[in-house]
Amino acid sequence: MNTYDFVIVGGGSAGCVLANRLSASGKWQVLLLEAGPADSNPFIKIPNGVIPLIRSDALNWKFWTTPQKACGGRPMFWPRGRTLGGSSAINAMCYIRGHAWDYDHWASLGNDGWSYRDVLPYFRKMENFEAIDKLPGAAEFHGRGGPLNVAEHRYVNPLMTAFVDAAQQAGHKKTDDFNGAQQEGVGYFHVMQKDGERCSNAHGFLAPALGRPNLKVITGAQAARVLFEGKCAAGVRYLHNGRYAEALARREVILSAGAIGSPHLLLLSGVGPRAQIEQHGIQPVHELPGVGENLQDHLDIHVTWEEKTRHAMSLHPASLWRSLKALFQYLFGRRGELTTNLAQAGGFLKSDAAQPIPDLQWHLVPFIYSDHGQNLTPLFKYYAFTLMTCFLRPESRGNVRLASADPLARPLIDANYLATPRDMEALVQGFKQARKVLEQPAFAPHRLLEHPQARRNRLPPGRHLQDGPRCDGGGRRAPACAWPRQPARGRCLDHADPGRRQHQCADHHDCRACGGPDPAGCGPRGGRARLCGRAGNRRCDGGEISKHVSFRGMAAPRRGPVVVPARCLRFGGGEDAAGQRTDRGYGSPPPGELQQRRAADAALPAGRQQCGVGLGAHP
Ligand SMILES: Cc1cc2nc3c(=O)[nH]c(=O)nc-3n(C[C@H](O)[C@H](O)[C@H](O)COP(=O)(O)OP(=O)(O)OC[C@H]3O[C@@H](n4cnc5c(N)ncnc54)[C@H](O)[C@@H]3O)c2cc1C
Repeated sequence: MNTYDFVIVGGGSAGCVLANRLSASGKWQVLLLEAGPADSNPFIKIPNGVIPLIRSDALNWKFWTTPQKACGGRPMFWPRGRTLGGSSAINAMCYIRGHAWDYDHWASLGNDGWSYRDVLPYFRKMENFEAIDKLPGAAEFHGRGGPLNVAEHRYVNPLMTAFVDAAQQAGHKKTDDFNGAQQEGVGYFHVMQKDGERCSNAHGFLAPALGRPNLKVITGAQAARVLFEGKCAAGVRYLHNGRYAEALARREVILSAGAIGSPHLLLLSGVGPRAQIEQHGIQPVHELPGVGENLQDHLDIHVTWEEKTRHAMSLHPASLWRSLKALFQYLFGRRGELTTNLAQAGGFLKSDAAQPIPDLQWHLVPFIYSDHGQNLTPLFKYYAFTLMTCFLRPESRGNVRLASADPLARPLIDANYLATPRDMEALVQGFKQARKVLEQPAFAPHRLLEHPQARRNRLPPGRHLQDGPRCDGGGRRAPACAWPRQPARGRCLDHADPGRRQHQCADHHDCRACGGPDPAGCGPRGGRARLCGRAGNRRCDGGEISKHVSFRGMAAPRRGPVVVPARCLRFGGGEDAAGQRTDRGYGSPPPGELQQRRAADAALPAGRQQCGVGLGAHP
C-alpha cells in the first residue's frame, strides 16, 4: 500500500499539468496513474502521424457512441488518447482557446473566476507563443516562456492558401490570430508544436517534472474505482500488470481521466444516479444525479472535392515520390509536409448574421476523411480535400452510462447529436456556406468534382443535393431526425443531408458529463472543481467544462484541460489570483482539515455522516 498527498487519475492533457504543478514545490508526494503506455511511439512526435494514431489500438481508446438517432442510426467513432499526454498526444494540435464571450458567459452562469479577464493571465502564463513579436498586438493576448509551445506552420499546403483566399472571395474576413482580438474570420491555425514536433502536454508539462523525487508516474495503471472513507475520497484502486493495487491520498484524489473516463470512474465507484449504480450491483457511496449527464460534443459535417493539382494527401501510388521527399525533409531538418497537423487552415463564422459571435467553425483537411479516418480505401484512389463544419454551441445533450460493473468494460456513450432543430439548422447553414467557399475562383485550379464517389451517388453530398423546397413537401419544418424515418425524397439539403451516412463525424471535443455548477449538484463549486458532497475529491479535465464553447479541447479550459487545472490550482503552483505565493494555492484543504472533518463527521448520527465510515466495498 502506498500513500501520497495527491493521487491523480489520468496522465492526459489535464493530468500532466496537474502532475507538474502539484509536484513543483517539492512539499507534496504526488502519484500520477495513466492507463495507457508511455508516449514513446514516434508517430506522437511527428505532427503528420495523426492518422496512424487515430487507428492505433495501443494509444487510443477508440470509443464508439451508441447508434445516433439523428445520424441515420450510425454509431460514431470517438478517438481518445491513451498514453501520457492523453488526447494531446493524438490530436490535431490546433491552438484555439475560444471566444472571450464564452468565458464571460460561463462567469455569468455562476462560475466565479472564469470570465475572460480572469483566465487570460493563465493562458498567457502557460504559453510560449513564437509569433508574439511578429503579430501586431499579440503581446496583449499571448505569453512567452511558458511550457506550452505554440508555433506557426513550417509548411503550408497550397490548398490551405486557396481556402483562405476563396473564403475572402466569398465575403469572409481574414484573421491572423484566432486567439487574439478578432476570432471571426478565416486564416491559419497556430499549432501546439515545437521545432517541427508535436508539443503534447506530456512534452510541455510532464517531461520537465519527471526528475522530481516527489513525483511518481505509473503507466499501464487503469483506475478501477475511487476508494472512499464514508464520503471522503481516500485513494484509488487500480489494475497494473494484471493485478489490483491501491494508492491512498492524504490530501486529494484528482480525477483527470477525461470527459468519458472520469464520469465512468465515478459511476464505477458508486457516485452518481443511484438507480443506475444499483442496477449494476455497485454499492452507492453518494447519490449525484448529474454524473454522466450533460455530455456535449461538436459534430462535423463534410464537403469533399476531388482535386486535380495533386496537392492533396493521398496514398495513391503516384504520390510515392512525394512521400519519400517529405520523409527526407522531415528527418533532415524537421521541415515539409510531415510537420503539418493536417487541419492547417479554417475559420470561425456565424450561422446567421443575428448571432453576436461566431457559432460555426471550419477546418480544411487535404484528403478524404472517410468514416472517421477508419476507412483509408478512398485515400488510395483519390486526391481530394474536405472542408469540415462544426456547430460550436450545440444544444443537444448526451450522457455516459455504465454498461457493466467491470472496470475494463467500455461505458455507453450517447452523444445525442442533432437532438434539437437549432443544432441541425446551424449545421445546414454552415454546410451551405462551406460549399459557397469551395466554389470561389481561388479554388478553380484545384477543383474537379464534389465528392468523387458522388458520381455513383454512393457517398453524398454531391451536386444532386441542392437548396430547394423542403423534402416533406408541405413547407413544414421536419424534425431533425427525419432520416431515416423520412429519407430524402428530393434534392434538398435542409434536413436530409446532415442525417445521412458518411458526412458527419464526431469532432472529438467532448466535454462536461460530470455535471457543473447546477442545481442538480454534481459538479465544480466555487470555480475550484470540487465535487460537492464529497471531501478530498476533485475533477480536473475536459469534463469540468461547464458549457461547450468555440474552442477545441485542449488549449482552452475544451476544453479546459490545460486551463482547468491551471485555474483550479492557481497556475504557477501556490499562487493566488494576484500572483502572490500562498500555501493554499492548490485549493486543497489546509493541513489537518480533512482529519478534523472526519472527526466531526464521526460525531454525527448515523445517516448524516459524510466521512469516516470506513472504506467502501472494492471490486
Ligand atoms: C483526434 C482528436 C483531435 C483533436 N484535435 C484537437 C485540436 O486540434 N486542438 C485542441 O485543442 N483539441 C483537440 N482535441 C481535443 C483535445 O485533445 C481534448 O479535448 C483534450 O486533450 C482532453 O483533455 P483531458 O485532460 O480532458 O482528457 P485526455 O487528454 O483524453 O486525458 C485523459 C487521460 O486519462 C487516461 N485515463 C482514462 N481513464 C483512465 C483510468 N480509468 N485510469 C487511468 N487513466 C485513465 C487516458 O488514458 C488519458 O491519458 C482533439 C481530440 C482528438 C481525440
